[in-house]
Amino acid sequence: MNDSIQEMSMVKKTVSEIDNSANLSLLSDASKRLEQALKYVNISEDAIARLRYPKASLSVSIPVRMDDGSLRIFSGYRVRYDDTRGPGKGGVRYHPSVSLDEVQSLAFWMTFKCALLDLPFGGAKGGITVNPKELSKAELERLSRGYINEIADFIGPDVDILAPDVYTNATIMGWMMDRYSTIKRQVCRAVVTGKPLTLGGSQGRDTATAMGAFTVIQTILPKFERIPQETTVAVQGFGNAGATLAGLLDAAGYKVVAVSDSKGGIYAPQGLDIASIHEHKNSSREMKAVYCHDTVCSIVEHQTISNQELLALDVDILIPAALENQITAGNAADIKAKLIFEVANGPINSDADKILAKKGIYIFPDILVNAGGVTVSYFEWVQNRSGWYWTLEEVNQRLKAKMATEAEKTWKIAQDLGVDVRTAAYVHGLNRLGEALDAKGTRDYYVNGV
Ligand code: NAD
Repeated sequence: MNDSIQEMSMVKKTVSEIDNSANLSLLSDASKRLEQALKYVNISEDAIARLRYPKASLSVSIPVRMDDGSLRIFSGYRVRYDDTRGPGKGGVRYHPSVSLDEVQSLAFWMTFKCALLDLPFGGAKGGITVNPKELSKAELERLSRGYINEIADFIGPDVDILAPDVYTNATIMGWMMDRYSTIKRQVCRAVVTGKPLTLGGSQGRDTATAMGAFTVIQTILPKFERIPQETTVAVQGFGNAGATLAGLLDAAGYKVVAVSDSKGGIYAPQGLDIASIHEHKNSSREMKAVYCHDTVCSIVEHQTISNQELLALDVDILIPAALENQITAGNAADIKAKLIFEVANGPINSDADKILAKKGIYIFPDILVNAGGVTVSYFEWVQNRSGWYWTLEEVNQRLKAKMATEAEKTWKIAQDLGVDVRTAAYVHGLNRLGEALDAKGTRDYYVNGV
């Protein structure tokens, strides 16, 4: 029955083919960063050619029986961009705007992110075109299990490992791991990371992206001779990554003056109490500028602002932590922040990069800043495979050491080559990818026998 409904296709395109298609522009924009970095690396033509192609892209249709008895078909994707350095690794996104192009771009970023952090993984990503807020919990579970039914042959602990992303969480990862285990007739914990602790999740996975970004900011701040107490911050996106990071920064003494979610933002030049706002949002689903003492919360003086206004605030640090393409040629001229740390994937497009560079704004790129999530996902995979589980202190200690080391190396490459930090991050990742690709055999090896 399912077979007649399901439609499965393998899609493989080069970046130049993608360039010709107007609705597949995100990957070609993402790949401009690759072209920029290629000027500064010494890797073989073969390696470069390999990196221009996503290795495999799978499109599936997922039939879901809805609560009212009707059948709905959802589109889903899984893309493995490259697996030279290890199995594919990447999250699964649930969002109405998910497309094959978006998933390919996200898989491309994951490839460079895993190489940059020196994780033994390639890059992958998945997604379903859906507004999860319109589904009941039972429908969401059937959709998540249905997605695994369709992609089970395409993933695995040594093939391609899933994780949470926008609008997916630990519970959904638990369903996915459970469904995959049922299909394989064995418990396969390491096929998914970001699972609930009780199903083999890692301590610290829920806060890993924010903790990683916080470590990068702390590593970079002294290079600009700044201290947290005199540094203002605006955070766009108050979800898993943005809200946790805003809380860490507030607790470390930074003045977080603005935060926002999809409905808009709040701004208070004197600084916001992030823990109170988080607590209030968790209990009421509303984001309000509140200060809570015990259980009593009162509204503090603030302005209500739009997401566009938040992005244009005159702050020291701007943190886009919502979705991609938030800063484009259309609004880049309005940006006044001195440093931007990209927690979201691809929040700034390549046209905006150039405008921001001319304004002297430093951009610390997604593939470095938000890599804490995949780093602890790697730790979870290691723990699942060894059956030996670490304490929160062990996880955070290893995470901070890795993030600080790679942030320092990336900064040094930027200084040594005289390039922007994004290009330096790609150069750093590319060098590792090039080495791995060449280890499989180079043109010289086959032509000249060397
Ligand atoms: P999330 O779903 O928990 O939160 C997303 C937040 O963005 C929510 O507050 C939502 O209201 C807000 N938002 C949605 N649309 C918006 C809009 N148009 N304008 C402003 N805000 C909007 O997601 P998350 O896990 O925090 O992920 C956020 C970003 O960080 C994504 O780009 C994701 O790919 C990236 N990221 C997340 C992780 C992770 O471990 N969570 C790891 C790496 C990268």
